[in-house]
Amino acid sequence: GEGHKEIIKLLLSKGAAVNAKGPRGIAPLAIAAGSGDREIAQLLVENGAPVDQTDDEGATALMAAAIFNHNDVFSYLAAQNADLKLKSREGATAGLLACARNHEEIVQTIIDKDKESLFVCDNDNTSPAWVAAEKNSHACLELLAQKCHEILTIRRKSDQTSPAYAAAYNNSLEAANILLKYARDTFVLPNDFGAVPVYSAAQKGHTEMTRMIAAQAPESLKIMTRDATNAAHIATTMNHPDILRIIAKAAPETVSCVDKNRQSTAYVAAFKNFTECLEIISGAVPSSLSGYNAEGITPAFVAAQQGNVQCLEIIHRYSRKALIKPSSDGISTAFIAAQMGKDKCIDFLIAQAPEIFQDTVNGNNPAHVAAAQGQMKCYKAIVNAFPDLAKQKNDNGTTPEAILASLNLCAGSLCKRFKRENDTPINQGTYRCPKCGKFFCETCAFFVTKDKCMSTNPFEAIARMAKKKFICENCGSELVEMSQ
Ligand SMILES: [Zn+2]
Ligand SMILES: [Zn+2]
Repeated sequence: GEGHKEIIKLLLSKGAAVNAKGPRGIAPLAIAAGSGDREIAQLLVENGAPVDQTDDEGATALMAAAIFNHNDVFSYLAAQNADLKLKSREGATAGLLACARNHEEIVQTIIDKDKESLFVCDNDNTSPAWVAAEKNSHACLELLAQKCHEILTIRRKSDQTSPAYAAAYNNSLEAANILLKYARDTFVLPNDFGAVPVYSAAQKGHTEMTRMIAAQAPESLKIMTRDATNAAHIATTMNHPDILRIIAKAAPETVSCVDKNRQSTAYVAAFKNFTECLEIISGAVPSSLSGYNAEGITPAFVAAQQGNVQCLEIIHRYSRKALIKPSSDGISTAFIAAQMGKDKCIDFLIAQAPEIFQDTVNGNNPAHVAAAQGQMKCYKAIVNAFPDLAKQKNDNGTTPEAILASLNLCAGSLCKRFKRENDTPINQGTYRCPKCGKFFCETCAFFVTKDKCMSTNPFEAIARMAKKKFICENCGSELVEMSQ
């Protein structure tokens, strides 16, 4: 205010140093510029204050005026030939700082005074346009697009991202709209991974951004990264069905993308149980449901393996052929579901694809593998639906019934109490009595003493566990651990 001005005039008249720095090396001119006091700034300059004096961060009075949006002081300093190309220690020019904050008038002043200074980038080659796109400083970006058009193609050094990429990544909708209007071709510029702006928007889950780019630069949906993924593929991987729906409408053929590991979008969705995405992919490109991945397995196969029964239902609705197609090794969807104990998938396949239960691997039908793996729910469902399968011999002449009979079941009280005895076959890593030959699961061996009751003393159980000394409930002999 006036009082300050009088004091400063007085100080100057007494010979005070106009360039004496305060804390952090900030000069009086920078303080005047930062607080928008043009008269004091002028007074200081007229009394010899250097216009380009820097503080400890390498910042000038011009930068202070740009940050705090004081165009009056900024214009004055620019008219006094303050250097618009100077960079702070962080590498920012006054123009970049103004663009980061959408200070449009400052940018207009720079354009009028020294347009070229706006092309000065920071130490990572980040341009004022890149920063304006990142921060959605749309007024500044519009000015740059009109007056410094080539700046829109400058890419950051470390990752090769363009202003369009920065806008898409940060969901700067207005900025993206300006870039689509003035520099649509930059939406096909890839970064160092080969990703284009729409890929980034799809990855980050920016639905409106994806919609805007898909409408105005649909060709960018086809561009592949170095992993051979596109926007549809990453939208599926990230489970963004709304985005995938937009892409499927704008460029349906891109939805059948197969990446460098030969994983299709349909495979990814079926594997991860992303049902909405799978539905969209199935609708757009039903033929992609029949493709093999690098291991020779189909989306239906992996869905059955993971127990994703809803995915099987979707695949069945769009392509029954894809549901019943075996792996390249000839293993059926039913066989893998039985092996993994996915009983809901088994129930679905019994109803919708009964014929695949007749397919065998080395003579083993799904009941063989269910029995061998102790998958009792699956076994019971299969032999209930197809009684003949229980008596079918494999290449070694063994039937599923015989495999089941040879399973070692736990003789422990806990298993019996919960009627689990038929559902907990014992294979490895458990205990056998050398005298009477009975088997015990780890839980029964741990908790049940020879008195056939739960150990009420947890310390006793832990002590026995530490010594690995477990006693047969039936005859009191010490149990031996079965080898792996
Ligand atoms: Zn048991
Ligand atoms: Zn025994």
